[in-house]
Amino acid sequence: MSDNRFARTKAWLRYADDLGLGPFYRDRAVPGAATTDVQGAPSRESQGVVRAVAQSPAERRVGTPLEVSPSAAAPRRAPEPPPAAKPAFVAAAPAPSLFESSGRVEGDTLERVRADIGPNCTRCKLHKARTNIVFGVGNPKAQLVFVGEGPGRDEDEQGEPFVGRAGKLLTQMIEAMGLRRQDVYICNVVKCRPPENRLPEKDEIATCSPYLIRQLDVIGPKVICCLGACSAQTLLNTNQGISRYRGEWFDYRGAKLIATYHPAYLLRNPNAKGEVWKDLQKVMAVLGLELPKKK
Ligand code: URA
Repeated sequence: MSDNRFARTKAWLRYADDLGLGPFYRDRAVPGAATTDVQGAPSRESQGVVRAVAQSPAERRVGTPLEVSPSAAAPRRAPEPPPAAKPAFVAAAPAPSLFESSGRVEGDTLERVRADIGPNCTRCKLHKARTNIVFGVGNPKAQLVFVGEGPGRDEDEQGEPFVGRAGKLLTQMIEAMGLRRQDVYICNVVKCRPPENRLPEKDEIATCSPYLIRQLDVIGPKVICCLGACSAQTLLNTNQGISRYRGEWFDYRGAKLIATYHPAYLLRNPNAKGEVWKDLQKVMAVLGLELPKKK
């Protein structure tokens, strides 16, 4: 088994342990495996199919798969690429995974997910420099969930997602939709701050994303809005740049998923705000929200 596949499988097995399913996987005992640090990460090139939603809203369903290109994920906070011509989506070879697209935890709750992460998680190396685990915040029954990348310095200090400069912009975006922060749910792919705000690494994402998936399953939102490439690539299981599918609808485990640019990107590229506003208006249409009246 490749290192990448091994790391991914190991992360899932840890997840299985957390769910109390470990005994079903006893056969996995490989000498030394239980104590080896997770070093590798899933090879996105070999991973499964990302499903775009068909063109018209009426036809929206899991359908056209996205091509998965071999390029690596963009560095954290790096400029997101300018909008590119959207190619026809092409299937990527799906790779088997223990829990992919199933594995809902019966009777799961956000409290249980939080408890399973635990107060002192050391599953990945991000624990070494973090101050607080940033679990997520907002309405546990939200119709709309925003998923970012990972906590920054302010979030790490306060234990709450999106409270720094990018967070303030996100709050403005939410309010522009006629909602309040407490109406939606906000969380990240990784719950601990990557040092120097670097992009979360593949092994960190593989270790932490099962908890994100559980959060999303528990909340059961109508719409998931991925902020930036990291969350979109994680949930859509692709390494394609966000500009290839930004503003498109996807099916994600029964929810509608849309990816838009990260607020931190907008801080550096205010000209892209119009594109994001178009995306948010699509979200509003699906949620039946009207533009708030100007005061
Ligand atoms: N950027 C993110 O992706 N998440 C946060 O919580 C803050 C900044």
